[in-house]
Amino acid sequence: MNQLLTEAERARILAKSALFDPPPAATADGRRDLVGLSREELAAELKAAGQAPFRAKQVWHWIYHQGVTDFARMSSIAKPLQEELASKFIIGRPEAATIQTSTDQTRKWLFRFRDGQEAETVYIPDRQEDRGAVCISSQVGCTLSCRFCHTGTQTLVRNLGAAEIVGQFMAARDNYGEWPSPKGETPRLLSTIVMMGMGEPLYNYENVAKALKIVMDNEGIGLSRRRITLSTSGVVPMMDRCGAELGVNLAVSLHAVRDDLRDEIVPLNRKYPIAELLAACRRYPSASNARRITFEYIMLRGLNDTEADARELVRLIAGIPAKVNLIPFNPWPGSTYEPSTRTTLDRFANIVMDAGFSSPIRTPRGRDISAACGQLRTESQRVKAS
Ligand code: SAH
Ligand code: SF4
Repeated sequence: MNQLLTEAERARILAKSALFDPPPAATADGRRDLVGLSREELAAELKAAGQAPFRAKQVWHWIYHQGVTDFARMSSIAKPLQEELASKFIIGRPEAATIQTSTDQTRKWLFRFRDGQEAETVYIPDRQEDRGAVCISSQVGCTLSCRFCHTGTQTLVRNLGAAEIVGQFMAARDNYGEWPSPKGETPRLLSTIVMMGMGEPLYNYENVAKALKIVMDNEGIGLSRRRITLSTSGVVPMMDRCGAELGVNLAVSLHAVRDDLRDEIVPLNRKYPIAELLAACRRYPSASNARRITFEYIMLRGLNDTEADARELVRLIAGIPAKVNLIPFNPWPGSTYEPSTRTTLDRFANIVMDAGFSSPIRTPRGRDISAACGQLRTESQRVKAS
C-alpha cells in the first residue's frame, strides 16, 4: 500500500472534519467547561488560574472518579479555592431533553448540548448479567448516506466535541447513580462503551480519540480498552490510526459481500472497497482470538441475505479473528427495505457458524421506545418545527 497517499488522505479527512467543529467549551458567562480537556490541558488551565500542578490530579479525580459536578463537593480542596474555581470553571453535562425506558429496560436519552444540538445515547442491558453497554453518538447526523440507516437521512450538522462524547457516558452514569468509578472489576451496569450511535466516529477522529483517552484513564473512569468498541463503516486510513493509538475493539459495518451492492447501500465503499477494508482489518493491531473484530451485517430481505452471500462472507473473512453480528433490519418511516425472515436469518447464521465464526443474531432491543437509531432526534426536530 502507498503510505504517502494514505498520509495525504488522512490529512484530508482531518481537515474536512475541522469544518464541523463543535462550539467553544465556554458558558455564556465565560466560565470554561473542564470536562473534555486532556490531562495536560486541564493542568494548563489550572496553572493559568494560578494553581500548583498537583491540583490537576486532584480535580481530575473529583471529575472522573467521583463524578462530582459541583466544586463545593471537592472536600479535599479548601473552601476559598472551591469558590475561586467555581467562578472560573464549570463541570458540565449535556442536558437530557428526553429519557425513555423500554419494557426490556433499554434506556434511551436524547441529549441536548450547549448550542441546542441533540444526539442520542442508548443503554442496552445484558440479558443474562447485571451489566450492559452504553451506545454513544459521535456526530449530530452523518455525512455518509447508508441507505438503510435513519441517521444517514440527516445531513451532518456537526461533530461532537470530546466533552460531549465523554459527557454522554457521564450523564448516563449520573442517571444510574453509578459514581464513583469502580475499582477493579466491581460490577457496574454501565460497564462497556460502544461507539455505535449517530455518526461515523472515524470522521470525527480527534474528538473521539480524546474522549476515549479520558474514559480509559486509570485515575478516572478507568474503562479498559477491551471494554470499548468502535464501529466504523470503513474509513480505511483512520482504522490504522485507531488501532495504533487507541487499541479499542473494532466493529466494521460490512453489510454486503460484493462491491456493486456495497457501493449502493454503504456508499463509502466507492472510496474504500471491500478488499481494502478487509486488508485494514487484517492489519488491525489488537485483533486476536481473544479480541475479535466484529463484522456487522444488516440483513435486508432479498438483497444481501442468500446462502451464497453467507458463503462468500466466510470466504472473505477467512483467517481474520472475527465474529459476525447479524442485525435484523429495523424499519423506519420512509425506509425502502424489509427485514429478512427468521428462517433466512437462521440459515445465514448457520453457514457462518459452520465455518467457525460465532454469529449471534442481534435481538432487537427497546423497539417500543426507539425504532431505528436517529429517529428520536428527528421526532424532536419535528415537534419543534410544528
Ligand atoms: N457510522 C458507524 C457507527 C454508527 S452506525 C457505522 O456505520 O458503523 C452503527 C450501526 O447501526 C451500523 O452497523 C448499522 O448497521 C446499524 N444500523 C443503522 N441503521 C439501522 C437500521 N435501520 N436497522 C438496524 N441497524 C441499523
Ligand atoms: Fe452514518 Fe453509520 Fe448510518 Fe452509515 S450506518 S449513515 S456511517 S451512522
